[in-house]
Amino acid sequence: IFPPCTSDYYQSNDLLTPEEQALRMRVRQSVEKEVAPIMAEYWEKAAFPFHIIPKLGALRIAGGTIKGYGCPGLSITASAIATAEVARVDASCSTFILVHSSLAMLTIALCGSEAQKQKYLPSLAELKTVACWGLTEPDYGSDASALKTTATKVEGGWMLDGQKRWIGNATFADVLIIFARNTTTNQINGYIVNKNVPGLKATKIENKIGLRMVQNGDILLKQVFVPDEDRLPGVTSFQDTNKVLAVSRVMVSWQPIGISMGVYDMCHRYLKERKQFGAPLAAFQINQEKLVHMLGNVQAMILIGWRLCKLYETGKMTPGQASMGKSWITVKARETVALGRELLGGNGILSDFLVAKAFCDLEPIYTYEGTYDINSLVTGREITGFASFKPAA
Ligand code: FAD
Repeated sequence: IFPPCTSDYYQSNDLLTPEEQALRMRVRQSVEKEVAPIMAEYWEKAAFPFHIIPKLGALRIAGGTIKGYGCPGLSITASAIATAEVARVDASCSTFILVHSSLAMLTIALCGSEAQKQKYLPSLAELKTVACWGLTEPDYGSDASALKTTATKVEGGWMLDGQKRWIGNATFADVLIIFARNTTTNQINGYIVNKNVPGLKATKIENKIGLRMVQNGDILLKQVFVPDEDRLPGVTSFQDTNKVLAVSRVMVSWQPIGISMGVYDMCHRYLKERKQFGAPLAAFQINQEKLVHMLGNVQAMILIGWRLCKLYETGKMTPGQASMGKSWITVKARETVALGRELLGGNGILSDFLVAKAFCDLEPIYTYEGTYDINSLVTGREITGFASFKPAA
């Protein structure tokens, strides 16, 4: 049984509206019931539990903040809280939803035509179909704006050629958002590629040490034809991907918050139950200090994440603020889960006890949607006026 939530020490739940609080409890109860009992087994197998997709769909959180087209139209705070609640129990499940919702669906909502929104968003919102988002390439990760996949104009559409790497949900996605360089303009454009088109191949990346349930793939595009109506009109340059990433980074910030909450809850229960030297582990000063350190981190992470949502909701959030949220919160979460892993002793390295699993799951989160370094440089550029992504010549 998943432990009760004991991490809201500063009662930040009071900052939420009654609707947001109700959503939080609905998501918490559902993932504790449906996901918690199976997650360690699927994580070990590095397999995705497809049978839970309809249950995640029934939560009505996919599509998050998108209004209309069958999407829930949640506030970003509500969407973020839902992300944290899923991640508190299992980070892989929350990544599955985030890639689908905050990256792929949001790209269609922000950059798609009216016809594309009507065609794709309703079934994606119900998770009847699944989407992925392909920006990264084998040779272009942090330097994604230099990507090499090409889109060449042909009669009635575009021909895509190239490779993508690390793409979450790629092996089974029905809808693939692919970014490619328009060979006429040399700018980055976005395309909606449907599953099973000739020339498209996705292969699962094996041997990941974190987010093992997420099916990350290498995508090969060899003369893949995309009709004109599936080119995203709102992606005319690399800057347009940043419109999506700035919002998505707010959501991703709430994953480490949720993971840290779950780890704290696990440790809090464990220290009270397990005894050494004739006393509960919770009675030892060093253990208490670690627990309090973790709890303090969680309060600070929640308050920064919450403030970020409010800045977004009032139209004041800057890309640098979103990047600092993602980078700082992820660093604090890394510290928090490492302390938790220590507190569980030997059980801290077993995936059955959640903490080791969470410890590993944080590593890819530290890296994706911009590494800690890259997000720091985005904020650094904003506060100093100097871009320092490229080494001095
Ligand atoms: P590199 O860019 O090679 O970086 C290596 C190191 O160098 C890092 O520490 C980095 O911070 C540092 N570095 C690089 N450039 C600089 C610089 N200018 N200054 C200082 N330090 C620098 N991508 C997608 O498009 N879609 C997905 O769904 C997706 N899902 C992912 C899921 C997982 C599990 C993982 C691991 C990755 C995923 N990614 C996805 C890709 C992810 O966004 C990239 O891994 C990330 O951007 C880093 O790129 P890289 O791995 O090539 O590292």
